[in-house]
Amino acid sequence: MESFNIKNRRYIFAGTFTNMESIKLKGEPIPDELKNGRVLLHCCCAPCSTAIIEWMVQEGLRLGIFFSNSNIVPFDEYAHRRSELERYAASYGLEVIDDEYDHNAWLAWVRSLESEHGSVAAMPERGLRCLECFKFRLIRAAEYAAVHEYDILTTTLASSRWKDLEQVDEAGRFACNAANAAHSEDGYHVRWWGQNWRKGGLQERRGCLIREYGLYNQSYCGCEFSLHGLG
Ligand code: SF4
Repeated sequence: MESFNIKNRRYIFAGTFTNMESIKLKGEPIPDELKNGRVLLHCCCAPCSTAIIEWMVQEGLRLGIFFSNSNIVPFDEYAHRRSELERYAASYGLEVIDDEYDHNAWLAWVRSLESEHGSVAAMPERGLRCLECFKFRLIRAAEYAAVHEYDILTTTLASSRWKDLEQVDEAGRFACNAANAAHSEDGYHVRWWGQNWRKGGLQERRGCLIREYGLYNQSYCGCEFSLHGLG
């Protein structure tokens, strides 16, 4: 059973949570309780974040941008994606919250699947490795949200056509449930915002903004398995 620590709290890989809470807003106006809450946006890269950040700023949401992507190798690639996000966010006067980079912990988390499901390297993109990859990153985001009193968590992963939206949603619910369980005595409660960020014209707007800002657009998802064409 795999586990890792975030700020003295221990998270254990224990499969999928049941009775998960989620906010379903697909294609609907933003409810007031979300407008008034603090939103932590987990960002995977600048291209996927463009239209979402622009839209959230236009909507007046109180927004934090969280970069937690220990899946990415090599480190130079990670640093480049982060700096592109910082450049884009700065144009809105926003700073990027940078999580600790720990690729070994990420590898240990996804390798917990190997005995049951065969080689992690052999798993295709959108397979179980990707679901666990999302969980690893979103647990860290949910923990940050709980500690820093954000009300809502969502992710730009749900803007990529290469990602399975159901996997992203499952991982987000899992992460918020884990963080809420870890902080139940503190009284914090982070809600998962399971939005489809491809809708509402955001997919088209994303392409315009990437060109306008001349953003670096990576050619692989992030991990070594996708880098070598295995994912
Ligand atoms: S292919 Fe992408 S989503 Fe899947 S495990 Fe690798 S980095 Fe994560």
